[in-house]
Amino acid sequence: MSFTLHGIAVSSGIAIGHAHLVSHTSLEVVHYVLPKQFLAEEIARFDAALLATRNEFASLRSNRPTYAAAEFDAFLELHQMILDDPLLSVAPREMIANEYCNAEWALKTQTETLVAQFDQFEDAYLRERQTDVTQVAERLLKQLLGQPGHQPPPARHDVETILVAHDLSPADLIQFKPHQYAAFITDVGGATSHTAIVARSLNTPCVVGLHHARELIREDDVLILDGEQGVLIVNPDKLILAEYKLRQSAWELERKKLKRLRTARANTLDGTVIELHANIEKPEDIVEVKENGATGIGLFRSEFLFLNRDNLPDEEEQFEAYRAAAAGMEGQPVIIRTFDLGADKQIKGAERVANNPALGLRAIRLCLAEPQLFRTQLRALLRATHYGNVKILIPMLSSVSELNQTLQFIAATKQNLDDEGIPYDREVKIGGMIEIPAAALALNVFARKLDFLSIGTNDLIQYTLAIDRTDEEVAHLYDPLHPAVLHLLSHVIVTSNKLGVPISVCGEMAGELAYTRLLLGFGLRQFSMFSAQVPSIKQRVLTTSLPEIALFTQKILRADDPMKIRELLDRLNA
Ligand code: PEP
Ligand code: MG
Repeated sequence: MSFTLHGIAVSSGIAIGHAHLVSHTSLEVVHYVLPKQFLAEEIARFDAALLATRNEFASLRSNRPTYAAAEFDAFLELHQMILDDPLLSVAPREMIANEYCNAEWALKTQTETLVAQFDQFEDAYLRERQTDVTQVAERLLKQLLGQPGHQPPPARHDVETILVAHDLSPADLIQFKPHQYAAFITDVGGATSHTAIVARSLNTPCVVGLHHARELIREDDVLILDGEQGVLIVNPDKLILAEYKLRQSAWELERKKLKRLRTARANTLDGTVIELHANIEKPEDIVEVKENGATGIGLFRSEFLFLNRDNLPDEEEQFEAYRAAAAGMEGQPVIIRTFDLGADKQIKGAERVANNPALGLRAIRLCLAEPQLFRTQLRALLRATHYGNVKILIPMLSSVSELNQTLQFIAATKQNLDDEGIPYDREVKIGGMIEIPAAALALNVFARKLDFLSIGTNDLIQYTLAIDRTDEEVAHLYDPLHPAVLHLLSHVIVTSNKLGVPISVCGEMAGELAYTRLLLGFGLRQFSMFSAQVPSIKQRVLTTSLPEIALFTQKILRADDPMKIRELLDRLNA
């Protein structure tokens, strides 16, 4: 049966392929009845998975990162205790023997019983532990299914494969890079979640927030995904399939044409020079940065070096990664952000549970709370400054005292390198991300103490409008054109320009064609975006006259009716 679903378009392109379903976070298993002679084998399979899960916990415990909070041990202990609960470790064996069912089904049924028991507790803390029960059961289930940890399922090689998941973390997605999926779709997620950002950087079409796609789609269904419109067509008929194959070819042709702009300078019609930089997650991404003609790295999200691994990158490993990026860009600027971990990017084995992760110990707050980890990164970063045009960017600044502490850390690290006779760029530029409204409003003090600024619109919008950027339930409220957002953006750009402090935008707005002229009109001259978008934005810059758009952008800023703002924006972009 053919049907169509609509979600949130997060990474453009058209993909046509076969569905490959992954179950990451929910206990979805099939039930089957086993002949009596296979029961002993099934119980042995359950026992082996139980043992492997125990070993997994033991290894997590012995490899506990030094910076990890003490709660990590307590959390592991709790999970080990849950695993040893007779309802999880013994009852499923009995159920297999008595009901002749498969181990996965027995585990799922017993987990539900245990969760129901926790649900009865009066005490809220104990009631909440049902989440831990589910997590432990999932770990055990993954062992049973032969997918320990978070390994991605391999893509098929004979046909294009589209990965269908209820949810994917940014860490999951980055693991898919070598697997060559044609597209990703998920039931949940927002347009500027880090999952979406990684999908864009992989240059892979992606639609999120499809609600029940994971339930409605079956393995191997034929899918068409339009990453521009956020449309998913399941089992299309021949005519639709032919139509989308044409659109896919046209889209690819258009991209090829745009790539011819690679070496052209991004000047406006009136001759103003605009810098178009790229955002990267790993030094390897530089190949694409160059292919797309970006003239620098405006944001290296260094935290991706910390994801999907059981240990942490030490100083040498980090230094090599930063040096490789610096050297690879051959003198062009490379802005490396100190790690922005926390919220939706967690270190494996040291996941923190917070009531409001986006408002919690994230980015610079986490760095300052984990001085050892921060010092290691700063040493690696400063050492890399000797090998290219490296600048350091501090994420999520909200108060001057945080900035002062950070600058003290940098000064102390420089002193250590001096003492050891290790070379670094003494004039290294330190910048700050303006992505919390408090920093945008109190801009002067940050501008005075920093060499450059970069606006993180993804978070600036999230925190201004109080909308969780990862939550598709409120995704419709995530509005870059909200007058409050526009005023903050204009204020930050105008003030920085007045003070002579270089300012760029490195959030997703910088890579969206709809906002290029608006940002240019506000006075922005430096953009940083996912590499593949550079040619399209360059084309827009090349066809823009700054004197012509000045009036429109001021009108947009004065308007407070959303309809009017959109109408003016359409005219600006016409
Ligand atoms: C932003 O917030 O806009 C930004 C660039 O940082 P990140 O998306 O990594 O939070
Ligand atoms: Mg941010």
